[in-house]
Amino acid sequence: MASEKTRVLTGITTSGTPHLGNYVGAIRPAIAASRAQDVESFYFLADYHALIKVQEPARVQRSTLEIAASWLACGLDPARVWFYRQSDIPEIPELTWLLACVAGKGILNRAHAYKAAVDRNRAEGEDDDAGITAGLFMYPVLMAADILLFNAHKVPVGRDQIQHIEMARDFGQRFNHLYGEHFVLPEAAIEEHVATLPGLDGRKMSKSYDNVIPLFAPRETLRRLIFSIVTDSRAPGEPKDADGSNVFQLYQAFASAEETAAMRQAFADGIGWGDAKQTLFERIDAEIAPLRERYEALIARPADIEDTLRDGARRLRERYATPLLQRLREAVGLRNLAQAAVERREGGERRRELPAFKQYREADGRFYFKLVEGERVLLQSAGFESPREAGQLIARLKREGAGVLRMGRSAWLAVDEREIAALADGVAMDEVVSALARLAEAEA
Ligand code: AMP
Repeated sequence: MASEKTRVLTGITTSGTPHLGNYVGAIRPAIAASRAQDVESFYFLADYHALIKVQEPARVQRSTLEIAASWLACGLDPARVWFYRQSDIPEIPELTWLLACVAGKGILNRAHAYKAAVDRNRAEGEDDDAGITAGLFMYPVLMAADILLFNAHKVPVGRDQIQHIEMARDFGQRFNHLYGEHFVLPEAAIEEHVATLPGLDGRKMSKSYDNVIPLFAPRETLRRLIFSIVTDSRAPGEPKDADGSNVFQLYQAFASAEETAAMRQAFADGIGWGDAKQTLFERIDAEIAPLRERYEALIARPADIEDTLRDGARRLRERYATPLLQRLREAVGLRNLAQAAVERREGGERRRELPAFKQYREADGRFYFKLVEGERVLLQSAGFESPREAGQLIARLKREGAGVLRMGRSAWLAVDEREIAALADGVAMDEVVSALARLAEAEA
C-alpha cells in the first residue's frame, strides 16, 4: 500500500454561503483535524452533488468560489491536504457508473433522502416519484464513488449520513466480490461532540430557517445581526439563565473555558442584554476578523483559487484516480483489444502468464531490469550502478504498483522525479498498470 496513513475524506456541498454554524460545526473542526500527522486528508467541493439541489448556474459557481475561499481563509493548506473540486476528477462519474452497475436498486429505494421525497409526495396525494430526479435517487452511488475512488478509511459525517457510508461499503464489497479486491471499505466517523449552533431565532442556525449569520459578513453587518438575536425581556440587573440563552451558546462556541465561566457569572449577576451582545460581538469578531481579511483577499482573485483547485485535482488524478480507474477498467473487461489478440495467439483459453521482473547485467557493466509478460517486454529500465539499486526499484514497483510512476519525456517513466524505465515499443501505459496490479494480486 502506498501510504500507511489513515485517509479521511470530507465533502462540502457547494450550495450556499457558509454561516457561523458551518464554521463551528464543520470548517473549524475539520481544519484542526487536517493538521494531524497520521492522516492523509481529502477535502472536496461537491459540485456534482450541488446540481441535485441547485439548478441556478450562477449560484453554483458563486457558491463554489465562496466555499473554496472560506476553507482556504480558515487555514486549509492545499500543500498539506488534497483540496479539489469534484467535477475536476472525471474518474468520479466514471466510477459512479461502474458502481451503479453493481448497486442494488432496492438499496437505493431505501435511501433516506429519496424515501423522504416519496413520503412528501404521498402526503400530498401525488405520484410516488413526482418531481424526483434520477440524480437524487443516484446520489448515494455518486457519494460511494467519491469515497471509494480514494480508498478512504474514514468519512466524518453526521448521523443522518451513516446510511450512505453503509451503502458505499455495500457497493464496494459487491464490486470486490465480482472483480477482485480493489476497494477499502470505508467507515463512518460520527461527530458526537460538535455543538449545534443556534441561529438568530434560537432554532438551529440553518439556511432553511433564514436565521443565519454569514461567516464573512462585514463587521457592521455582524454587529447588527448579533444585536438582532432574540432574547427574553429581563432587564439589566435581573439574573439570567445562561444555558437557555442563544447569546450564551453562541459565546461558548467561540470563547475559552475561562471566558465562558466569566460570562456565566455575568449572566447570574444580571448583565444587560446589550452588554452581553456587545461582548459576544467582540469575541466572534476577534476570531473572524483576520480570517475575513484573508477571505476578502482570496475572493478578489478567483483565478488563483481556480488554479489551486485544478492543481489539486491534477496531482490527485495522477497519484490515485487515473491508475485506479485503469485497473478497474481492466478488471471489468473494458480492455485493450490488441492485448486480447496477443492472449489468444499465446494459447486460447490458457490463463495469461503472470508478468515478471527480469534483472540482468549488460556489456556496459551496468545493471538493468525488464518487466515482461510471457515473451512480451512491457518496460525496459535505464542502467543502474548496482544490482541493489535496480532491486530496490523493482521492490517498490511491486509494493506500490503503478501509482509511483509519473510520465516523463516521451515513453519514459519516473519515480521520485528520476526517469527509471521506458515503455517498450507499442506498449500502452494501461498495460503496465494492469501487469503491476496482477503481479501484486498474485503476490498477495
Ligand atoms: P449544511 O450546508 O446545512 O448541510 O451544513 C454543512 C455542515 O455544517 C453540516 O454537516 C454540519 O456539520 C455543519 N452545520 C450546519 N449548521 C450547523 C449548526 N447550526 N451548528 C453546527 N454545525 C452546523
